[in-house]
Amino acid sequence: MTEQGVGRVLVIGAGLGGLTLAHALVRAGLDVRVYEADDGSGERFQGYRIGLAEPGLTALRASLPQRLYEMVEATSGGLTGPGLLFDEQLTVLSRDLDGPVEGSRAVDRQVLRRILLGDLGDRVTHGKRLTGVAEGAGVRSAHGTEGAGGSVTARFADGTQATGAVLVGADGGNSVVRRHLVPEVGLVESDLCGAMGRTTITDRFLRLVPGRGTMVKGREVTLMLGRMQFDREPSAAAADLVPGLDMPYRDSYVRWVLLVPPGHPAATDPGSAGEDARELVLELIEGWHPDLRDLVRSADMSAVGRSKIYDRPMPPWPVGRITLLGDSAHLTLASGGNGANTAMQDAVRLSARLAEAHRGERDLLSALGAYQDDLLERGNAAVQFGKEALKRFVPPRPQETR
Ligand SMILES: Cc1cc2nc3c(=O)[nH]c(=O)nc-3n(C[C@H](O)[C@H](O)[C@H](O)COP(=O)(O)OP(=O)(O)OC[C@H]3O[C@@H](n4cnc5c(N)ncnc54)[C@H](O)[C@@H]3O)c2cc1C
Repeated sequence: MTEQGVGRVLVIGAGLGGLTLAHALVRAGLDVRVYEADDGSGERFQGYRIGLAEPGLTALRASLPQRLYEMVEATSGGLTGPGLLFDEQLTVLSRDLDGPVEGSRAVDRQVLRRILLGDLGDRVTHGKRLTGVAEGAGVRSAHGTEGAGGSVTARFADGTQATGAVLVGADGGNSVVRRHLVPEVGLVESDLCGAMGRTTITDRFLRLVPGRGTMVKGREVTLMLGRMQFDREPSAAAADLVPGLDMPYRDSYVRWVLLVPPGHPAATDPGSAGEDARELVLELIEGWHPDLRDLVRSADMSAVGRSKIYDRPMPPWPVGRITLLGDSAHLTLASGGNGANTAMQDAVRLSARLAEAHRGERDLLSALGAYQDDLLERGNAAVQFGKEALKRFVPPRPQETR
């Protein structure tokens, strides 16, 4: 089957998009290998929950083995109830804040990633940092004109390499694969800085986020609060639903993100983690209500950090056996709350096109061309949506208020 079909698909990056793609391809009967830079011994800083709405949830349902999808449901949390807008002293300004759409679920990024690693076994190799890619001679072509017979090679920092029929760059915002395809396209700085963390839920902190989300609007900065209340504690759910799945104990928490606006000295700082980042937040919310200050003070210090915020739309590239998925193709501002959702939708769309080629229903490069058209249209719309959404989080600059 494989020899007549598409051949091996190499996926670079075991993030949310790459792992969803791997499951979708396995389900479609294709041969897939995933290569991840992290060595797998620890977790990168990923201290936030994300909201998954319909494109993402549908994609996961369509891709994952049923028991893993049940784990997603069991370990997610509802996003219902009023979206609150507070001032710095917790006076309610609105109970009707825009937020995640009805039916969205909050998921912890690390927990979701552990679930997505389930059942893939040795199809995923950690400690493989991609340094370069090369397509076999004669493979690259104009849009959709060439058939099977070529290959693509991935080179890794440890000196090894892997060869397959198709390579998918799911290697995130700073993608090596994207730089290979469109070296001229770089990240766009938003001139904003975000500092974020998570704090274990107590009744006092839960009152700050009774519904689907809370925004605290200060004169200079905005604090976003989101609730990650696991329907079932993840390690207990795993023991019951997917015995053997590697899942740490995790308390429910409130995720907070402080947006430092353009023009503020802290917005140009490249970023820091831990104590420095928390001190910056406390300095910027000086004089705010004690519940808000204590929320930040009580943070889990392993998950506090700050970074600059980027996005990047994407132009077309010549269709070949190397393609992109997720943040590597369309890095969106976190304000859109749509990056993971879009990446997961990319995964099912790409898998469907590759399955058509695998079954001989269409030429491989025409399948990849059709995927690219769809990816760019949805991805660039997602980037634009994130830009628009940012406006409601950023207080006007002082001169604009006069
Ligand atoms: C604060 C914040 C909040 C967010 N909230 C939401 C939300 O509510 N909803 C939503 O839909 N999205 C949200 N997002 C966006 C979402 O997290 C991303 O869009 C999503 O993780 C993208 O998935 P990905 O697979 O493309 O990339 P990633 O998940 O970043 O995975 C990329 C993987 O590639 C690996 N990698 C990188 N370089 C290499 C290399 N050279 N070789 C091999 N492997 C490599 C990385 O280690 C990583 O594992 C948020 C983002 C942020 C920052």
